[in-house]
Amino acid sequence: MTLREHIRIFRRGGKLCFDFSKTYFLCDVCNIALEALIPFVPIYFSAKLIDALAAHAPLEELFLYALLTVGLVFVLKVISGFLGKKRDILMNLFYLEEDGKFSEKAMHLPYAALEDPEISRIRFRVKRATQTGFNIFYTMNALEGGVRAAVRILASLALTASFFAIRSAGVAVKLGLVLGIFLAAAASILSTKRIQDRQNQFMEEANELNAYEYIHNEYVSHYDAGKDIRLYAMADWLGDEHFNADLKFWKLNAKHSYRNALETVPVTILNDLLKFAVYGVLIHAALLGEITVGSIAKYVSCVTIFIGGISDLTRSALLAFHNNRYLKQYFEYLDIPNHMYKGSLTVEKRDDYDVDIEFRDVSFRYPGTETWALRHINLRFKIGQKLAIVGENGSGKTTFIKLLCRLYDPDEGEILLNGVNIKKYDYGEYMSLFSVVFQDFRLFAFRLGEVVASSRSYDPEKVRECLVKAKFGDRLGSLPEGTETYLYKHFSDKGVEISGGEAQKIALARALYRNAPFILLDEPTAALDPVSEYEVYSNFNSISGQATTVYISHRLASCRFCDKIAVFDQGRIAQSGSHEELYEAAGKYRELWDAQAQYYVKDNGQGVSPASLELG
Ligand code: ADP
Repeated sequence: MTLREHIRIFRRGGKLCFDFSKTYFLCDVCNIALEALIPFVPIYFSAKLIDALAAHAPLEELFLYALLTVGLVFVLKVISGFLGKKRDILMNLFYLEEDGKFSEKAMHLPYAALEDPEISRIRFRVKRATQTGFNIFYTMNALEGGVRAAVRILASLALTASFFAIRSAGVAVKLGLVLGIFLAAAASILSTKRIQDRQNQFMEEANELNAYEYIHNEYVSHYDAGKDIRLYAMADWLGDEHFNADLKFWKLNAKHSYRNALETVPVTILNDLLKFAVYGVLIHAALLGEITVGSIAKYVSCVTIFIGGISDLTRSALLAFHNNRYLKQYFEYLDIPNHMYKGSLTVEKRDDYDVDIEFRDVSFRYPGTETWALRHINLRFKIGQKLAIVGENGSGKTTFIKLLCRLYDPDEGEILLNGVNIKKYDYGEYMSLFSVVFQDFRLFAFRLGEVVASSRSYDPEKVRECLVKAKFGDRLGSLPEGTETYLYKHFSDKGVEISGGEAQKIALARALYRNAPFILLDEPTAALDPVSEYEVYSNFNSISGQATTVYISHRLASCRFCDKIAVFDQGRIAQSGSHEELYEAAGKYRELWDAQAQYYVKDNGQGVSPASLELG
């Protein structure tokens, strides 16, 4: 990375910190500056006080200096304490803002990016680095260190300027001292660099261990894993693994700490030699009466602080440089563009659900793959139609739904809404046309009503109606707080556990609540047995009302009630028509149907599955 790029990234990081919480940023920086300034008050006034004592100044003057020292430190400490408290309170806001920005990015990423393995890797790395403090938090850290060092250097320079006016020390002595200061500073820079490099290396090694511990803790603390841990008696083994990871961390830390301690020895010796030389010059000048006794302590303290400041500044700059590598990745992630949001046409809101969608010669390949997941798809949805999409696993059914919902855009052909390419519509408005229940749907651990409405505010009556339609009515009646009941126990002790089947019913109710003109069920029932899937699908058919509903399944029998069935085979629509038409025609549908019917009959041995019933 070039210096220019380092500066650009650091500035952007600083601006982002400022934008997360301006008040936090300002409180923090001002507090750091004040804290760095406080030690100079006693240094300055103690010198004055000693000089006044030596000069037998009146008692009032002595008291004035004592009062100024104590009073000024008191006032500065009160202000800095107030700023520090405010900063601590706002720190959570800062963390939340950062976390929010990260999650928000994930939610607004184009779906294709979420499925892209490279982006997943970047995301994971960024998240992991952030957890150990790299990225934006270390930018703040480096900024704080820079401000602290700058204040120390400037203040000590201001208080030592008069040192160089001492006449009793010759030019050679003064030059020698300046050289000494530079040498001490250079040694300090070198040692700081080595310590910081080691620290960075430690953080990187610790990063791996932290990631391991994070995943380990996630696993053992999740109650799903609790069953496996107990049944397979894994507790001792997992405990040992955790202990070993802790031990590695501790050893790593100890190794770095020892080396760092050794690193500081030569610098300390050099600093002390320098201090000794400064003392020599000062004592000599004081004996000649050229400087006051009070200034001796002042100059020595300031030279020490000055060298410390240089080493702090180096440490902060090195930290910033190192952190910029992570920050660059962080910004790369935040900068992933979203081409999905470009359209601006509004989607006409219609109560009669008269929405016409057509796939016109659509073909699609997943990014980075050679094979066509969909090829030359032509399909038009009739309003209110119950359409089934069937086909073997991998035939392109889910991909078809992803394109319909604009999670991906076609590579060839177009999808039209009321005759206009869907890319031209406002993305959010277009998405609002669909209620989808995917196979891998997730229900959040919020109140049941909120989950069904996908929002904090909801209409309890409508929620209840949808849950009853989705056959969750009985269970709802048994819930202590009705629609206010929390799902799962993450956020409330009174939360209820629900079975997979119940979760599916809630997901179906959520699809109904949205009241969208299109309802898409992408095998949310795949985990159920064929008879139950058939029941859920045919029941849903009677409650989906006017909505155009698309049922997807690899089990043909589950969809036979649909007005139209499209049979997908290797990314193409092999056949379409009603169950009767397709069964009569010898083709893919018949082939699959016979294969599945045979399987069911053999499987349960009684011939009572929906497939066998139909065939019988
Ligand atoms: P179905 O829903 O009928 O089981 P899919 O639409 O999920 O089939 O998959 C169609 C084809 O696209 C399959 O060959 C599958 O391996 C491939 N595919 C699905 N998702 C991805 C993805 N995210 N990246 C690459 N290929 C994918």
